[in-house]
Amino acid sequence: MLLDRDGTLIEDVPYNGDPEKVRAVPGARAALDRLRAAGLRLAVVTNQSGLARGLFTEERMRAVHARVEQLLGRFDAWLVCPHDDGDGCGCRKPAPGLVHAAARELGTVPARCVLVGDIGRDMTAALAAGASGILVPTPVTRPQEVAAAPQVAPDLPAAVAEILRRRAAVDPASHRHADGGPARQVGTVLVVRADSAGDVLVTGPGIRAVAAAAERVVLLCGPRGRAAAELLPGVDEIIEHRLPWIDPAPDPVDPADMRQLADRLAAVGADEAVVFTSFHQSPLPLALLLRLAGVRRVSAISDDYPGSLLDVRHRVPAGVPEPERALSLAAAAGFTLAAHDGPALRLRPAPAPPPEVGAPGYVVLHPGSAAQARGCPPELAARIARALAAAGHRVVVTGDPGERELTAEVAGDVAVDLGGRTSLAGLAATVAGAGAVVVGNTGPAHLAAAHGVPVVSLFAPTVPFGQWGPWRVPTVRLGDPEAPCRDTRVARCPVPGHPCLSGIEPGQVLDALRLLGVTPPVRPEPPAVSRGTGVPAGASIGGSG
Ligand SMILES: [Zn+2]
Repeated sequence: MLLDRDGTLIEDVPYNGDPEKVRAVPGARAALDRLRAAGLRLAVVTNQSGLARGLFTEERMRAVHARVEQLLGRFDAWLVCPHDDGDGCGCRKPAPGLVHAAARELGTVPARCVLVGDIGRDMTAALAAGASGILVPTPVTRPQEVAAAPQVAPDLPAAVAEILRRRAAVDPASHRHADGGPARQVGTVLVVRADSAGDVLVTGPGIRAVAAAAERVVLLCGPRGRAAAELLPGVDEIIEHRLPWIDPAPDPVDPADMRQLADRLAAVGADEAVVFTSFHQSPLPLALLLRLAGVRRVSAISDDYPGSLLDVRHRVPAGVPEPERALSLAAAAGFTLAAHDGPALRLRPAPAPPPEVGAPGYVVLHPGSAAQARGCPPELAARIARALAAAGHRVVVTGDPGERELTAEVAGDVAVDLGGRTSLAGLAATVAGAGAVVVGNTGPAHLAAAHGVPVVSLFAPTVPFGQWGPWRVPTVRLGDPEAPCRDTRVARCPVPGHPCLSGIEPGQVLDALRLLGVTPPVRPEPPAVSRGTGVPAGASIGGSG
């Protein structure tokens, strides 16, 4: 648990070197003590450019910190950036250096950390390190920063309550026997996620939790999620069927087709079923079919009254990241990740990427999306490709078979064009070898997260970033978080000019890559020795320097 200092733990007194002026924010002591009692370790991460500007001494700062600990209790680590904006250090937030250092000091990794802060710099630093962020705005926090934040809480005690609630919702400890093994052993479990590739990928952790206790896991998915389903570890068998109450372009309900599905589900012989959905989808039509198929225990998230269709009716507040939402349903059904597994997106091992991408370390630019509203405007994507190439990055443009024209236009003569030339598994392999991926909120962002590859997220705010942004992977969010398409869930942008993304400048993508520590490969020096000398490349020829 990482905490910003000024404006978050204590009232912001600019460049304060006086312990007498330290005032804790209301409720801070009790909130922090709740975290300590829950076994969480606490670090402060704070920019103190007053040191660089000579406005107070390090000794005065230490006196201030002693006073903070007097009021708020002990912190396990203090991480301070003493630099100013012009110093180009890697620790001044929004750079992620302090978050990395704090995670190290606490003996963990950024992906297991949450940073609570009061301004956009805190959130950017958290996301760029792969940590979670919760913004607690003050009256001086800008509306744009509030709109861009992955999560927002009204005050520090509320942020702490939310962290503890979410931790308890997926906590393995409450579901394990004393010997550490899974509490339940079951035969066959039918899991369901009938939507697109991205939806299936973010359900992966929930499915792995089920697989940890089940002898056999059968996944029911739709045609648009089939290829993603094949990438998930823990899935033994896949049933593909279009569900008319989930599919975005459904055919009329065909009674014969429904009877056939019920028969197919009955043939699985599942002991129970866990039905994963997005918050706007209902699990209840399928729950009825599962009852017709004789499945005795059915678990799902449902705000609608389920009657006797569900045995475990789970509820999740809005805004929880989708993978965590899936994990919390699995936990409610009695399934938690195995002790050796961790809460991260994972895929089956990737095959080798196509040879034309070259050595690892290239930047993947994926301009398209199944939903136009979440794709990068083509003209902007082409400018990004040129800017990346001009900065020395090797660029690989990817897209599905329907996007060949788009990827050819974007790649031009500066990038490798893989559009339509990979399966989803091939795309995952290409992403796995990338230094970073530049992509909208669509499937490949989750492939990148699963391979730990940093993401520059060109995020159209049609859905909440905290729920659908790349999960637990270093990320920089670009695009206008306050655009009129915010939270509309539209597939086609309703606003002329696609303004949420079209205002992005290629220079912002280059800045984002720098923040993520992704630098262009050093271009090879021209050979110092002419051909034909018989001296192998790289060998010392003495005196050449
Ligand atoms: Zn610094």
